[in-house]
Amino acid sequence: MTAQLIDGKAFAATVREKVATHVARLKEEHGITPGLAVVLVGEDPASQVYVRSKGKLTVEVGMNSYEHKLDADTAEADLLALIDKLNNDPAVHGILVQLPLPGHLNEDLVINAIDPAKDVDGFHISNVGLLGTGQKSMVPCTPLGCLMMLREHHGSLSGLNAVVVGRSNIVGKPMANLLLRDSCTVTIAHSRTKDIEALCRQADILVAAVGRPQMVTGDWVKPGATVIDVGINRIEKPEGGTRLVGDVDFDSAAAVAGAITPVPGGVGPMTIACLLANTLTACSRANDLPEPEGLTA
Ligand code: NDP
Repeated sequence: MTAQLIDGKAFAATVREKVATHVARLKEEHGITPGLAVVLVGEDPASQVYVRSKGKLTVEVGMNSYEHKLDADTAEADLLALIDKLNNDPAVHGILVQLPLPGHLNEDLVINAIDPAKDVDGFHISNVGLLGTGQKSMVPCTPLGCLMMLREHHGSLSGLNAVVVGRSNIVGKPMANLLLRDSCTVTIAHSRTKDIEALCRQADILVAAVGRPQMVTGDWVKPGATVIDVGINRIEKPEGGTRLVGDVDFDSAAAVAGAITPVPGGVGPMTIACLLANTLTACSRANDLPEPEGLTA
C-alpha cells in the first residue's frame, strides 16, 4: 500500500471531543443541554444496532438522548403525532427518524413533518433546497463527514476534480453539492454512466457511494487521488462467516491512490460524529448562539 490512510475512526473521536467541549460550555455558561430524539419504528436488527450506538455516543458527549421505539405496525397518524410533539418540545434540538421505515409508512411525508431546524439528518425538503442553493441548512451526516475528512486532508478543495459515484438523496447528491460549494469541479456518476472507469480516472477526489462490494478497483483510480469509500457491504468470507467491505477494492486502490479511507473505520464513524455535531449546531441556532467552528459545512 502506498496511499496514506485517512483514519475516520480517530478523526471521529476528535470531532466528538470537540462536540463534548462545546456541550460542556453550553451547560455551564447558558444552562442548556442539547437533546437528540431518535425514533425507531419496527425491529430491523441493523437499525436497532445503529440506534443503540447513536444513543450511547449522544450521552457520552453530554447530550440528552431520547429514544422512541414504536411497533412495526404503528399507524402513520401516530408517528406524525409523535413528530409533532417532538417538534414542539424545547428540550429536543434534533430529531432523527431511523430509515428505512416499514412499507406502509410514507418516508417523504414523515421526514417532511420534522421541523427543518431540528432535522439533524438534513433530509427535509427545505434543507435539501437550502443546501442546493448554497444557503445555511442542516447537512446530511454522511456527506458532511466525508467533507470534513477531505478538508482536513487537503485544506482547500478549490479547483479539484471530484467524481461522486452514486446519486442517492442521502449520500451522492448532497456530497456533490457540498463539493461544488467548496469549488470542486464535480461530476456525478451512476448506473447509466458510460465508461465510468475512465471518468473516475480523471478524479482528484473519488467518492464511492454505490452499495456494490469492492466495485471500484485500482485501475479506476488516478495516481495520487484521494478515495473516499462510503460503502458498507457485508460479504461471505471464503473460510466461512462474513466481513464488512466498502464499494472500493481497498488493496488495489490503495496501491495507486494518494490517500484512502478504510472500511470499517472510515466514513462510518464520521457519520455518527456528524449527527452529534448537527445536534449541537441545531441547539446553538435555536438559542441564537454562535455555531461551533469546524463542525458545520
Ligand atoms: P443507493 O442504493 O440509494 O444508491 C446507490 C447509487 O449507486 C445509485 O445512484 C445507483 O445508480 C448507483 N449505482 C448502482 N450500481 C452502480 C454501478 N454498477 N455503477 C455505477 N453506479 C451504480 O445507496 P446509498 O447512497 O444509500 O448508499 C450507498 C452505499 O453507502 C451503501 O453501501 C450504503 O450501505 C453506504 N452508506 C454508508 C453510510 C455510512 O455511514 N458510511 C451511510 C449511508 C450509506 P442509479 O441511481 O442509476 O440506480
